[in-house]
Amino acid sequence: MLLLGVIIEYAANSLDRPFSYAYNGDLDVKIGVRVVVPFNNRKVVGYVTSIEKTDDTLEELEENTGFKIKEIISIIDKEPILNEELMMLSNDIASYYFSPLISVYQTMLPPSLKPKLSSLNKPKIAYDTYVEVCDENTNDLTPKQLELYLKIKDEGLVLKSDIKSSLVPTLLKKKKIRLVLKEKMRLVLEDVEQIQDKDLTLEQRKAVEEITTQNDKVYLLEGVTGSGKTEVYIQSSKKMIEEGKTVLMLVPEISLTVQMVKRFRACFSNVAILHGELTPAERYDEYRRISRGEVDLVIGARSAIFAPLTNIGLIIIDEEHSETYKQDVSPFYHALEVAKMRQKYNENCKIVLGSATPSLETKTRALKGVYKQLYLTKRFNDSSLPETEIVDMLDWKNLDNESSMFSLSLRHEIKERLDKKEQVLLLVNRRGFSPFISCRKCGKVLKCPTCGLPLSYHKKDNLLKCHHCGLVDKMPFSCSKCQSTMFTKTGFGTEKVEEEIKRLFPNSRVLRLDSDVASIRSAVGKVITTFENEEADILIGTQMIAKGHDFKNVTLVGIVLADLGLNIPSYKASERTFNLITQAIGRAGRHEKRGKAIIQTYMPKHYVIYDSSIQDYNRFFNEEMVYRKEAQNPPYTYLTMITFASNNEKEVIDKSYYFKDLLIAKFASKKVEVIGPSEPFLVRVNDKYRRKILLKYKNYNDISPVLKEIKENVNKSSSIDVIINVDPMDDY
Ligand code: ADP
Ligand code: ZN
Ligand code: ZN
Repeated sequence: MLLLGVIIEYAANSLDRPFSYAYNGDLDVKIGVRVVVPFNNRKVVGYVTSIEKTDDTLEELEENTGFKIKEIISIIDKEPILNEELMMLSNDIASYYFSPLISVYQTMLPPSLKPKLSSLNKPKIAYDTYVEVCDENTNDLTPKQLELYLKIKDEGLVLKSDIKSSLVPTLLKKKKIRLVLKEKMRLVLEDVEQIQDKDLTLEQRKAVEEITTQNDKVYLLEGVTGSGKTEVYIQSSKKMIEEGKTVLMLVPEISLTVQMVKRFRACFSNVAILHGELTPAERYDEYRRISRGEVDLVIGARSAIFAPLTNIGLIIIDEEHSETYKQDVSPFYHALEVAKMRQKYNENCKIVLGSATPSLETKTRALKGVYKQLYLTKRFNDSSLPETEIVDMLDWKNLDNESSMFSLSLRHEIKERLDKKEQVLLLVNRRGFSPFISCRKCGKVLKCPTCGLPLSYHKKDNLLKCHHCGLVDKMPFSCSKCQSTMFTKTGFGTEKVEEEIKRLFPNSRVLRLDSDVASIRSAVGKVITTFENEEADILIGTQMIAKGHDFKNVTLVGIVLADLGLNIPSYKASERTFNLITQAIGRAGRHEKRGKAIIQTYMPKHYVIYDSSIQDYNRFFNEEMVYRKEAQNPPYTYLTMITFASNNEKEVIDKSYYFKDLLIAKFASKKVEVIGPSEPFLVRVNDKYRRKILLKYKNYNDISPVLKEIKENVNKSSSIDVIINVDPMDDY
């Protein structure tokens, strides 16, 4: 009999350990396969983590261990679903992020392979049916049958559905041909023409040289947009692949993979794509293609960092400062952290971080020499950066009665572009600040009953929507507090900007891109393509439009109100706003025509506004680092956020104070600051009340044993959830 250690599919800290099950059958079980097991009178999927042979009977085992041991119900996989490296990696991740191992597996694997009951009905391998000849003797065939037989023989392997003849069944019956099943790949990409290598500039060549021949582990490739970073990625990848290694290329956004994929497919023949926009079937196929070693290079968004490549020579993280590389649910992993973990298992694997505006953490490490700094200082073809103008929206001279949203200057420039048939991008920086509705009489803000966040008003369908949980509600007739029927709208979003533009420029063709539009798969691509094809004049959007896109005819970028992002109470607010504005400005005039950018603001003297207007990353870095030092925020320290959640508000408050005292006692001799408890930005999630405690420290090893202990012990006895987020993106 076999005694199996099985971790089950529920991702709770209290269940984060192997449970023992017996197996008496004669099938081969391996560590790393999925099994179906009984658990609390339910059928659940588990993942085998250990196998022990034993001569004991079930009764003897139960006697020895003191546990009731059940038998597994069935074995799902023949082979382990994770390779050896990924198994070790999952342990590293679970340990560093204090998350249940099963949730790491579930994050790593495509839908069809997740250790979860619900994935058992996810797509399986699809087959195409081919025929081939299998008997040389053709004496008993009629001339017509022989004709078909010879055609098939000529071709070798023919897709059955391609044969337009009724004689196939006859040939099959006579055993002259046979059926062959071949795996069918469901992701079909159009062919791209292979392109020749470009001659690299001196700087590009130096970068490729360093990356491929030096011994540094992590490289920061710093260069403004259009300075040719992608070309460096491509040439470095080629070198690695020539040496028989594989390459992993991460991009921040799905919409960006489209362009990157095209470019990479034009240079490499064996590319796989992994991201959430693929259908589960497509992801499954791509995943298996990679597993079988048929792929040299994988491109994808964050979770592609788990691609089952072996012998990785290079991991590229493009736009490394992008926050999409950090997962915002458990396990709260960051792709860069995981990349560093993978380096351990792939000899001489290099990491290249590319950015025009590196995160402050990354830049600090490069300055300290922990990362090797590489620069691309010139924009390709020497196309110059756009001219920028800051417009003070508090100065009445800049405005008139026609519009309070668009200054005279921005309107003038837009009109000029429309006349010249050039294109305009308008950025609405509204992270967390969409328009919301409040009662005109008592001021009560309409909030989401589940999250407690203000609901956003969507004029088009006259509905209220929660941008956090997706709740949609009708506009109420009257205020629930004072019964007044008058409401006011505060703030503005993309929709409002669109309306205003259409009013001011009625003949312009306007497109909008925001999370609303993006909620439909492929809608983003459609909008971008339409704009790229110059079938629209103005594109209005949120941060989505700022990134990466290469619009040839855009010569004007307008930032409708730059300050919005600065008012958010996060230590990262300045960095985010700087990045966003810098990137948005970078969209203007990437080609022959010189671009212009206009920044509308109420704080024209703010260093973030000024530094981004002159695209001076170093200046911003130096100024911002002073504030970070003063407040002892990253990169001077590290943060970990602990969130407590419960259906019972009193309990969550009590427990958070209890933990505060406990943590302070445990950290007594260490340099760990315990901040809080306080209300998090999301006060309620899924009907649970939340409180947070923030830890600030210089050394991860100071917090790790304590948090491990907490993770292992609290959740068992209590009805309160403890959610640990190491290196969170926000401190509020
Ligand atoms: P980045 O990734 O830094 O934004 P890209 O790699 O996209 O910059 O380069 C910007 C443009 O310059 C692209 O159109 C690219 O094809 C072109 N380019 C880059 N390097 C070269 C080169 N060495 N020779 C010719 N064209 C180049
Ligand atoms: Zn009211
Ligand atoms: Zn909500």
